[in-house]
Amino acid sequence: MAFAGLCAAPASAAPTGAGHGHPVYAATIVIVLGLFAAVAFAFVRAHRQRGRLLEEADKSRALLTTLLDATPDIVFCKDTDGRYLLGNRALSDFLDRPTDQIIGKSDRDLFPSELADEFRSRDLQVTRQNKIVRSTEWVDQADGSHEVFDTVKAPVRHPDGAPLGVIGIARRITMEHQASDRLQLAAQVFENAAEGIIITRPDTTIEMINPAFTRITGYTPAEVVGQKPSILRSGRQSAAFYHRMWETVHDEGLWQGEIWNRRKSGEIYPEWLNISVVYDEAGEIAHYLGIFSDISATKHSEAQLEHMAHHDALTGLPNRSLLNDRIDTALRRAKRDHRMVATVFLDLDHFKDINDSFGHAVGDAVLKQAATRLLECVREEDTIARLGGDEFVILIENIEDVALTINAAERILTCLNPPLTVEHQEFFIGASIGISIYPHDGDTAETLIRNADTAMYQAKRQGRNNIQRYSEQQTETARNRMRLENGLRHALKESRFEAWLQPQIDLASGKLTGFEALCRWPDEERGMIPPVEFIPLAENNGLIVQIGESMLRQSCRQIVAWRAAGLTPPPVAINVSGRQLRRLDFLAALCTILEDEGCRPEWIELEVTESDILKDAEPAIATLHGIREMGISLALDDFGTGFSSLSYLKRLPVNCIKIDRAFVQGLPSDTNDRAIVQAVVAMGRSLDMRVLAEGVETPAQVRALSLMGCALAQGYHFGRPARPDTFTALVQRGKVDLGI
Ligand code: C2E
Ligand code: CA
Ligand code: CA
Repeated sequence: MAFAGLCAAPASAAPTGAGHGHPVYAATIVIVLGLFAAVAFAFVRAHRQRGRLLEEADKSRALLTTLLDATPDIVFCKDTDGRYLLGNRALSDFLDRPTDQIIGKSDRDLFPSELADEFRSRDLQVTRQNKIVRSTEWVDQADGSHEVFDTVKAPVRHPDGAPLGVIGIARRITMEHQASDRLQLAAQVFENAAEGIIITRPDTTIEMINPAFTRITGYTPAEVVGQKPSILRSGRQSAAFYHRMWETVHDEGLWQGEIWNRRKSGEIYPEWLNISVVYDEAGEIAHYLGIFSDISATKHSEAQLEHMAHHDALTGLPNRSLLNDRIDTALRRAKRDHRMVATVFLDLDHFKDINDSFGHAVGDAVLKQAATRLLECVREEDTIARLGGDEFVILIENIEDVALTINAAERILTCLNPPLTVEHQEFFIGASIGISIYPHDGDTAETLIRNADTAMYQAKRQGRNNIQRYSEQQTETARNRMRLENGLRHALKESRFEAWLQPQIDLASGKLTGFEALCRWPDEERGMIPPVEFIPLAENNGLIVQIGESMLRQSCRQIVAWRAAGLTPPPVAINVSGRQLRRLDFLAALCTILEDEGCRPEWIELEVTESDILKDAEPAIATLHGIREMGISLALDDFGTGFSSLSYLKRLPVNCIKIDRAFVQGLPSDTNDRAIVQAVVAMGRSLDMRVLAEGVETPAQVRALSLMGCALAQGYHFGRPARPDTFTALVQRGKVDLGI
């Protein structure tokens, strides 16, 4: 009989290997091994007594089988070849095959080969070293999961010491293993979480905190364990707040929300806190668990976003949307208290020139400084907003007297008087101001701003650097301006603009020396619209570029037509605005038109004004040189109305100076005008430039100019601007009767 002479090694023989040292389990192993020893002893004895106690032995064996089958652990015995001598029901259940299909088989027959080899090598270790080995074994299941066993194997030897095999018990510990995995994971989460974690007793004394808690609050475990969480209180929340918080925790088992706490450093900070209750098996409160994250960074960026949405990025002043809100609030208060509210619309004068000439970086710096100035000269309770560009609105509340608002606006203008310094350069900036007042000029933010804007525009028209209060009539003016602008676009599309001509005469001989082309806009309803009405507007909105090109084209066409008819017309002077001059493609456009129309450069002249050149002198002067290089002559228009600087004049490549009508009007009596005209004539002579007097209306003016040595003239006296064909006869004749 196989079991005869079996003898299990004593349980005390130093178990090795991994161990889930479970005391109850260890005791079971001792008992089972003890039983084995007892049964084996009985067998041996029975064997010795040769059948005498056969019956007793059978009983013992039945007892053993019953006992082994009753234990939930797997019990087995293998011989030195690794073949199963015995296996209990737990083993056959696990392998899902009856015991007789296990006995006599090896692990290779029952388990995947890799696992079987592992079992075999451990069995050999047990036999060879003759000691108990304990190990944790992982057995993969067909469904992909695995079972974990805590296995103890002991050597079985014959009393003479010869190895007989191995006896083993394997306890399934899959669940315990998973639980311990989970515990380990929980501990790791606790240690590494970005959120602060705090665990308290039911009486809320702190039991545990994690490293993130220390990182956020500055308190170490030694400083807070045993304390109450109230050491973090910032004082920002009321007692009632905490009361409600705990009420929710108890009623719902959970509370979450934003709360301000205080760090050890004293700094208070916002956190997002989540408190939950942990119950024990009896349903009693075992712990409170608090998890929180520091949201001061989020809060900060939220506040920044909020600020960005309502403030201008460049100056940091409130923007239009915040201004609207503030006006709305101010209006509500004013309605209630029967007070007035003023909106002061401010637009910097000539800011565009700064931007154009010095670049946007300098322009931005000027705007920032202007904003700082404005802040210095208003009361703290007033709102200054930037609407964009160089437009600001100041909201003034609690006004009792309109005159006080005007005073405030005057103060603002004075404030802007001293120059601003940017990059060692001084900038003089004035402003035009328009004022509208609730309740007189509107009762919504929108109308108040719009009307203040209209008044501001009026201030600009009045010569800038001044203040205008809104009036109904300004709206009318603004409307007319809009209508005119629409008409202008329309007229341009339909080529309604006509180039009329006005003759230029040599005062000595009466010879026709040239024409000036002047733009005319005949309108079906309004008749002839004068250039002073639409040219400034066209310069403002840029349409002047197209109008100018049309004038140039029509003039060229007329010259070519006269030449084709065998006539020799004198040069036609065409006005060029600063807007055109500053365009990079101006010279190219000029070339194209001349070529298209077959007009030679010397057949035309271009008129530019001094102020248009000076706005952005260097590139303008470069363009003027380009014009001269093309062979086109240049006239300096409206001379005397701008800076009229001699040093500049010397640098300008012009052929002709046109004395403005303003200095001709007073001739011959006005001594100032005489002095100016004489000075210009002398200047022209020394710089080798022609001098032409504009706006000559009377024979006396003609005589006076002749006497002063002014060679050329243009004016109603010789002919008003008219359609070109009116002058065909004059071109043919080539001269006029001077009429003096
Ligand atoms: P400007 O270039 O100084 O043109 C001369 C203006 O004086 C013209 O006014 C002309 O009709 C007027 N004028 C001529 N002789 C006399 C006179 O004896 N007495 C009086 N009182 N006025 C006289 P106009 O045609 O109304 O043009 C006004 C301004 O509009 C022009 O002044 C010029 O600056 C601008 N302009 C006219 N056409 C064009 C154009 O095609 N392009 C550009 N950029 N500007 C133009
Ligand atoms: Ca002109
Ligand atoms: Ca002129």
